[in-house]
Amino acid sequence: MNTITPVSSHESQILSKDQQFVWHPYSSLTTPIPAYEVVSAEGVNLHLADGTELIDGMASWWCAIHGYNHPVLNEAAKSQIDKMSHVMFGGITHAPAVNLCEKLVQITPQGLDKVFLSDSGSVAVEVAIKMAFQYWISREQPNKNKLLSLRNGYHGDTFAAMSACDPVTGMHHMFERVVAKQYFAPAPQIAVHEQWDKQDIAEFSQIISAKKDQLAAVVLEPIVQGAGGMRFYSPHYLKSVRELCDQHNVLLIADEIATGFGRSGKLFACEWAQISPDIMCLGKAITGGYMTLAATLCSEEVSRGICEGEAGCFMHGPTFMGNPLACSVANASIDLLLSSDWQANIQRIEATLKHELTPFSALDTVAETRVLGAIGVIQMHEPVNLAEIQKLFVAEGIWVRPFGKLVYVMPPYISTDAELCKLIQGIYRVLSKL
Ligand SMILES: *Cc1c(COP(=O)(O)O)cnc(C)c1O
Repeated sequence: MNTITPVSSHESQILSKDQQFVWHPYSSLTTPIPAYEVVSAEGVNLHLADGTELIDGMASWWCAIHGYNHPVLNEAAKSQIDKMSHVMFGGITHAPAVNLCEKLVQITPQGLDKVFLSDSGSVAVEVAIKMAFQYWISREQPNKNKLLSLRNGYHGDTFAAMSACDPVTGMHHMFERVVAKQYFAPAPQIAVHEQWDKQDIAEFSQIISAKKDQLAAVVLEPIVQGAGGMRFYSPHYLKSVRELCDQHNVLLIADEIATGFGRSGKLFACEWAQISPDIMCLGKAITGGYMTLAATLCSEEVSRGICEGEAGCFMHGPTFMGNPLACSVANASIDLLLSSDWQANIQRIEATLKHELTPFSALDTVAETRVLGAIGVIQMHEPVNLAEIQKLFVAEGIWVRPFGKLVYVMPPYISTDAELCKLIQGIYRVLSKL
């Protein structure tokens, strides 16, 4: 098709070229939904090309915990860029990466002692899975080459990560011939603060016991299942998973890409159950949303196992591994978080979200609301019409991006109570019109 679009303004040009040339996440190029052009962002606000200002409820998908255009993070990036933006990491090292890895070992649960840096969350998950597989190959148990994962999980879009995602929402039937088959336990049903009943872990327990000789690792998101359903489950479940992994000689991979750096009210969600995984994935908020960066941490035992094997080294090495610019911003972002009273701040956000979400249960279209830390979820009875609802949110001056039946927020930690109220009340007005 050769359509000539009249050029009336810079904005319409960008938007029409966007639809012509550019893929967006999970988007169609044959029936594109128009995107909004952002020209700048500051604090909790996104500034659109047409002058509209939006309060951001998404923190750019869990990332921008300190808000946008933060002077401390800007300075970290600027001072690093004048030294070097990137050097290869093979045979070369530098302070930004070393300092970051030391910091991550110090702040993550006990026993995570070695750090592998990579470019994005999905790659961090690939690396974690490869670590687990290579560990068992090195330990001469190559039949331990399957994963046990949870339904409603989400671990990224690359192939190994996808194989551990919920088999239904992860589209396993479509990619049946190319996605590895893994084992799945039912999603935990007992919510985070609910009374524990060990029946909730019974089927998981059966599977791990029956399949232990094939299982390299359990892969799960601790406490908060994110993109696979925005569900918060009991710390007792996670504690039991740790015990069962030990009992059956299976590694535990905790994917903290969404939960890491305070989002759930703990610095890492594993702390809810006071457990340490054997391997942990970090990403998203690690640079405060400035640069793409991720990390996979593992125990001394896993790293020794891998390195004592036939290969003598871990078989992975991304080109942009340890990017100094990203590491510098990550160091600044983590220092900024830890130098604040972040726990009290997350509690404040949690209390405000709970208070503001209370009236939603009166809406017929709403099935349930739930809050944990700086995460607020409104579960609808029916899936929302994204294209339609997005316009209504923008008209309210807020940026919220639902999926399916889930309308949810994970705002920047700098959001004031007034901004949170505006955000949630805007959502209320939109939902009450549906
Ligand atoms: C976002 C996410 C990923 C994937 O990270 P990308 O940076 O999008 O590749 C993996 N696991 C969890 C839990 C996530 O939330």
